[in-house]
Amino acid sequence: MSPSLITTAYLAAAALFILALGGLKTNLTASRGNLFGIVGMAIAVIVTIAAFVTANYALLAGLMIAGGLIGFILSRRVRMTQMPELVAILHSLVGLAAVLIGFANYMDPAISHTGIEKTIHEIEVYLGIAIGALTFTGSVIAYGKLSALIGGAPLLLPARHWLNLAMFIGVVYIGIEFVGNPDHDQAVIWLLAMTAIALLFGIHMVAAIGGADMPVVISMLNSYSGWAAAATGFMLSNDLLIVTGALVGSSGAILSYIMCRAMNRQFLSVIAGGFGTGGSGPSAAAAEGEVQTIDVDELAGRLNNVKEVMIVPGYGMATAQAQHAVAEIAKTLIKKGVNVRFGIHPVAGRMPGHMNVLLAEAKVPYDIVFEMDEVNDDFPNVDVSIVVGANDTVNPLAQEDAASPIAGMPVLEVWKGELVVVLKRGMAAGYAGVDNPLFLRDNTRMLFGDARESLEALFKAL
Ligand code: NDP
Repeated sequence: MSPSLITTAYLAAAALFILALGGLKTNLTASRGNLFGIVGMAIAVIVTIAAFVTANYALLAGLMIAGGLIGFILSRRVRMTQMPELVAILHSLVGLAAVLIGFANYMDPAISHTGIEKTIHEIEVYLGIAIGALTFTGSVIAYGKLSALIGGAPLLLPARHWLNLAMFIGVVYIGIEFVGNPDHDQAVIWLLAMTAIALLFGIHMVAAIGGADMPVVISMLNSYSGWAAAATGFMLSNDLLIVTGALVGSSGAILSYIMCRAMNRQFLSVIAGGFGTGGSGPSAAAAEGEVQTIDVDELAGRLNNVKEVMIVPGYGMATAQAQHAVAEIAKTLIKKGVNVRFGIHPVAGRMPGHMNVLLAEAKVPYDIVFEMDEVNDDFPNVDVSIVVGANDTVNPLAQEDAASPIAGMPVLEVWKGELVVVLKRGMAAGYAGVDNPLFLRDNTRMLFGDARESLEALFKAL
């Protein structure tokens, strides 16, 4: 394949990746965006094989079939609620690939550079392995936290920031020893030592981050996986991998920034790890009040005499798969002349845009789905807020208790409306492990049970 054809194909693939990212900006264009991404990736893979692979075709085909099959089976089996942990584990694979390619590249006797090229290549290898290793273990820990295999509470080791600093200094020191080291075997040992530290750093960084700050970590690991891929592109001198990695890295960084703003956290603090966790465990603030319940018939009666309804979905809507029932109720109320809106918190659910995806799947019209900032001032005019499996994102303690792990996080101020009805199975805390005094407020009624069952019963009663 001629170099100009390779460059043209790579440019086309890069343009398709940019169009894919642009398409993912809104629900309406997301499918088209995905299609651009698929075509771009197909071009990238085919051209790379045609241009650079000269041997081991059977091995390559076998591995591609095995990998493709695993991906296919996973994508068919994964439930919507498991998407966040799937994304996390896929990030870990990008990190692992960067580590393995880095070592293979450095130890390959066929690759030899001299002078400044050698120095640059060694820096590329070093950075690629370092970013890859911390992305790998960080993503595995994120997977564990998201799938509840390990607890969501932050691991706050004594002097943890000093520990991070020591690891950082260690990585820089080893880097100085590694780059330009004439003894190849000794350099490999330095590389292994740095990898061990970077693996530990990834574990410590993500383990130290508290439950409610996990959204920032996920987008951050997304970004790291992109930079790991870009570093691999430099090692392999593959322009498309550099561009693609940079696209993922920078879009992940922008998403992290958006998530930080949504959580009211400092970007740099989160990157350093373990900040913004406040106190741990349930808040010290004493909650006052009694739990008051409501049944489906009473709620249906109430909804027959209202003008403004706000539906606030959370992670419980995803686990209950209640999005279709909620869409039917919205449709019914709208037919009755009620102004129904959905208020979406940026970190509701377990991945960015989780609620929007579910509501789009249930064909809820986009023009009644609003971001938190667009509706938060309207709650005093809302007659009934229906909270479907949301907890941390409607917790007033975020504003009222500076010692709470969710302190400072903006929340949907549902309690300012006339009546709040909370659909959940019991009094369990949300992801951050904080009790929620909203459930005890005078104008709150609890509708206990699985959200989908409650909403289907409510639909019949309406
Ligand atoms: P929460 O996780 O705070 O609470 C969900 C609630 O849903 C639980 O309290 C649970 O209560 C209830 N629930 C679970 N299953 C059902 C069911 N079948 N029917 C009815 N209720 C159910 O949800 P939020 O969406 O409010 O908050 C998201 C949290 O997740 C935030 O802390 C956020 O930081 C974090 N997070 C978000 C990520 C993102 O990218 N969006 C990623 C990682 C974490 P009960 O058991 O009593 O029913």
